[in-house]
Amino acid sequence: MMTAREYEESLRKLNLVVYMFGERIDNPVDHPIIRPSMNAVAKTYELAHRPEHEDLMTATSHLSGKKINRFTHIHQSVEDLVKKTKMGRLLGAHTGCCFQRCVGMDALNALSIVTHDIDAEHGTSYNQRFLKYLGYVQENDLTCDGAMTDPKGDRSLPPHQQPDPDMYVHVAEERKDGIVVRGAKAHQTGAVNSHEIIVMPTTAMREPDKDYALSFALPSDAEGITYIMGRQSCDTRKVEENILDTGNPGFGGHEALVIFDDVFVPWERVFMYKEYEFAGSLVEKFASYHRQSYACKSGVGDVLIGATQTVSEYNGTQKASHVKDKIIEMNHLNETLFCGSLACASEGYREPSGTYCVNTLLANVSKQNVTRFPYEIARLAQDVAGGLMVTLPSASDFKSPETGKWLEKYYRASPDISTDSRRRILRLIENLTLGTAAVGYLTESMHGAGSPQAQRIMIARQVNMREKQKLARQLCGIEE
Ligand code: SF4
Ligand code: FE
Repeated sequence: MMTAREYEESLRKLNLVVYMFGERIDNPVDHPIIRPSMNAVAKTYELAHRPEHEDLMTATSHLSGKKINRFTHIHQSVEDLVKKTKMGRLLGAHTGCCFQRCVGMDALNALSIVTHDIDAEHGTSYNQRFLKYLGYVQENDLTCDGAMTDPKGDRSLPPHQQPDPDMYVHVAEERKDGIVVRGAKAHQTGAVNSHEIIVMPTTAMREPDKDYALSFALPSDAEGITYIMGRQSCDTRKVEENILDTGNPGFGGHEALVIFDDVFVPWERVFMYKEYEFAGSLVEKFASYHRQSYACKSGVGDVLIGATQTVSEYNGTQKASHVKDKIIEMNHLNETLFCGSLACASEGYREPSGTYCVNTLLANVSKQNVTRFPYEIARLAQDVAGGLMVTLPSASDFKSPETGKWLEKYYRASPDISTDSRRRILRLIENLTLGTAAVGYLTESMHGAGSPQAQRIMIARQVNMREKQKLARQLCGIEE
């Protein structure tokens, strides 16, 4: 297993083509806006080496029998699934943001199932290929970016009817030694902090879309891949002289648009090729795993609840009964999120490939809660924090000899607490509910792993309605 430092060094060796603010970024690792997101992924390496987290952060490879980072593991039991949930909460709590590495873990697990299923149907050998690739990922402890979301163009049209054929990733050319792919994937969490990109289709497909029914893996610096970094609210605070105004100076998530401009993929890295009837199942498996992964938000919720309790103590409002009750409500919502992720893991089952998968219905119910509860938790945090969270002058004003003395005087609350501490905790709450981390805690909770309606469709499909009706009819004596 790599250490955090080795991980950082391994990223320096990549030759990524990254753009931000209209310029090519030669050194993403040290770029002040990107670096906090790299730090968040680095935590997944760091904690794996700490004895107290070994049980959650590491696993035994079913391929090699060696100890590996759990982010590269294929779940071999319900216990593995439960540990995955707990690992997500742990890392959310240690970073206060999206730590990005789950998408790759979820892609690997989904592919371990679906490659096996395709082979059973078509007599292909995708699973063998995939396991060889998995061995490489485990052996080198790589971070993989799971790439699913295509730009999708006109949403009313399937891939093959799009006026621009590149709106979904597709095969542009078939060669003897592999395929050439073209298209893009949007909102790619952690893309520039990854060694590998695992591409999957974004939706169920029919025969005419078969050129789009692809799954493959590429090194993140393969020729023809370009990354354009997304903008986040308050992102330039990270380049200010005093980075305290960011609220969480060390960590943050980050997304990019990833463009595949005629990129060559050798056959040994292709895991689905035109088997359109399995596109939907790959999407569903990945989505279910990733909906479970949103236990990360209960970890971030831990940080926000801790910050809210702290600010109430700094303000001197901690004994007010409504403040206490609001914090109870935040905890109730946050633990309910955790319950959902734990439940879908505990009700997991063994797929024919041997991989354990989460309960699909419960994973979707859990993610549906994630699209709502963090917003309510954030609302309560802002309620308790007070308006100063958004009217507080800058860190430079606090430092300035002209203005600093006034800010010290008028922004002091509890006599035992420095103005500096009060300022820091307010900035952290601002970061989580309005700033760069709100991308991960709020909007990503809404749209990541599928927007709310995607879960509602799955809930409708998975619920056994006939059985419920039968139960009702039986009790009131209806026999027809
Ligand atoms: Fe992992 Fe959560 Fe980020 Fe998804 S949103 S990659 S589950 S930390
Ligand atoms: Fe996500």
